[in-house]
Amino acid sequence: MKRISVFGATGSIGQNTLDLIQRDPDAYDVVALTGGHNIDQLAKDAVAFRAKIAVTAYEDRYQDLKSALSGTGIDVACGSQAIVDAAQRPVDIAVSAIVGAAGLGSGVATLEQGATLALANKESMVCAGRLMQSKVKSFGGRILPVDSEHSALFQALVGEDISSVERVIITASGGAFRDWTLDQIAQATPEQAATHPNWDMGQRITIDSASMFNKSLEVIEAKELFNFTPDQIEVLIHPQSMIHAMIGFTDGGLMAHVGPADMRHAIGYALSWPNRADLPLERLDFAKIGRFDFSAPDLEKYPPLRLAYRVMAQGGLSGAVFNAAKEISLDAFIAKKIGFLDMAAVVEQVLDRVGHQFSSESDCLSLDNVMAMDHIGRITAAEIIEKL
Ligand code: NAD
Ligand code: MG
Repeated sequence: MKRISVFGATGSIGQNTLDLIQRDPDAYDVVALTGGHNIDQLAKDAVAFRAKIAVTAYEDRYQDLKSALSGTGIDVACGSQAIVDAAQRPVDIAVSAIVGAAGLGSGVATLEQGATLALANKESMVCAGRLMQSKVKSFGGRILPVDSEHSALFQALVGEDISSVERVIITASGGAFRDWTLDQIAQATPEQAATHPNWDMGQRITIDSASMFNKSLEVIEAKELFNFTPDQIEVLIHPQSMIHAMIGFTDGGLMAHVGPADMRHAIGYALSWPNRADLPLERLDFAKIGRFDFSAPDLEKYPPLRLAYRVMAQGGLSGAVFNAAKEISLDAFIAKKIGFLDMAAVVEQVLDRVGHQFSSESDCLSLDNVMAMDHIGRITAAEIIEKL
């Protein structure tokens, strides 16, 4: 039996994870489940999966969770520190599926107990890649990627020598506005941005897919997870979202990872690694699919991609600033305070102003510094948005 915790259990990745656990209940002993405002889902799952503790991120939801779980013997807690405390409960594996930099604390705590972190929360690697890797080294745990492109890269690298990697291709569907003009995109509403042609995901990552902020986070995530150099990493538009990533080797050959657009593949691979499980996924029928299309991304249409390469060149803790500014800009776009293309413009201005602070290797290994840069990124973005 694997002891497992799921951080962000009520979200899209969390629910897909619980779907796999529920199909193989004898394989798992559920320790902690955490969520946010959706107390009904969290309480229902805590009971169904016999969790030892359920935590809501929000203090004002504590009483509701407590009443929902009264008499069950399940511990109840609230707040971001309680999530970190829950991540200190011994497990074999934890799934990091909180959205945003809020997922960092539970990921670090999991690695500090030397456990395996199945990482969907790409923001952890963008904000604190070096810190996360240093925790792996110091405590002997590991990070298994759950983001589909990174799971694909990880799988394409099995048995390969990393020094024979020449290029890394991460695919992108092109999101909701793939076929829109720049003028149309400038007028896009949050409702239009929150639909995805291929993947069913949480609202924030879906909007980030339309802007390609998601892909820009993934480019940085790839660098931080596998230690690739920025010039090795390419982004390719592939509207079918079936090839998730490719690795090109020094001999000119490539390994492509192909599969349906279903996150249970990448989650299941991480949960079963180094083995493969029998997963309930659609089997692709290539004769029916007929063709795969590819095109180069238009950097004018997708300025966040350009910013990702800037962040990698800038180094230091600019990733934490980048992500924080992106989160605040996304909030402002969702609240209809700024337009769709303003998000990238705000993030670029924040990078200009504060992206350069903390640039030495040791600076990057401190969680306090990461949180400080996250904070500075947020307030600087809020100031810029206020003046727009
Ligand atoms: P979601 O919005 O569906 O769920 C987010 C979860 O985090 C919920 O359980 C929510 O309660 C919790 N949460 C939100 N704010 C929180 C906070 N401040 N503190 C603590 N908990 C909080 O998101 P999702 O789509 O499942 O994405 C989760 C993570 O996985 C993100 O980092 C995303 O980029 C990554 N990811 C998602 C997908 C996908 O298919 N959904 C694919 C690849 C990577
Ligand atoms: Mg992805």
